[in-house]
Amino acid sequence: MNILIMGPAGAGKGTMSDLILREFDIPHISTGDMLRENVRNNTELGQQAQQYMNAGKLVPDELINAMVEQRLLEPDCQKGYLLDGFPRTLVQAQAFEEMADRIGKPVESVLALEVSFDTLVDRITGRRICPKCGAIYHVRNKPSKAEGICDECGSELQQRKDDTVEQLKVRMEEYDDHRLL
Ligand code: ADP
Repeated sequence: MNILIMGPAGAGKGTMSDLILREFDIPHISTGDMLRENVRNNTELGQQAQQYMNAGKLVPDELINAMVEQRLLEPDCQKGYLLDGFPRTLVQAQAFEEMADRIGKPVESVLALEVSFDTLVDRITGRRICPKCGAIYHVRNKPSKAEGICDECGSELQQRKDDTVEQLKVRMEEYDDHRLL
């Protein structure tokens, strides 16, 4: 199954993705996660992307398109894919359509999540993430058992650098300026 999941920051793409992955044996490809991993590993792509990400701005299309195409050619995508956070601009959508056809993996299903701005602000500013296992919490809606500690693996929870009200505004503007649906 070839699936796209779309929606602004805090819409619940991660949570919905987990549910989808229970049904389908496909890799979860989140461009945000891939970029953060590149930043952590200090790759050339990570160095190029970091400034945009810290500012809440979109990373240039050509970097993202190349990263996704390379990922879709990996063997685990034979079974399909769940693409999360891509395409996010018209240029990416056009490039994606072309590459997906070329490599024989056209999209079969698209999920678009819509959530009010106030709810997004609440979800994003309260979001806490486990840097080790990726578990996601919310300080009020889904707190960990011990404050600041991951229930799954005991690591110290963190707040994403761009999960502040100011950054969220920029991210939402970016999303609206480029929205595809
Ligand atoms: P959000 O839901 O806030 O956009 P993501 O984890 O999906 O969070 O992305 C984090 C950041 O990574 C974005 O603010 C942007 O800088 C960059 N990014 C992720 N996906 C894309 C994309 N498809 N195009 C451009 N930039 C992207």
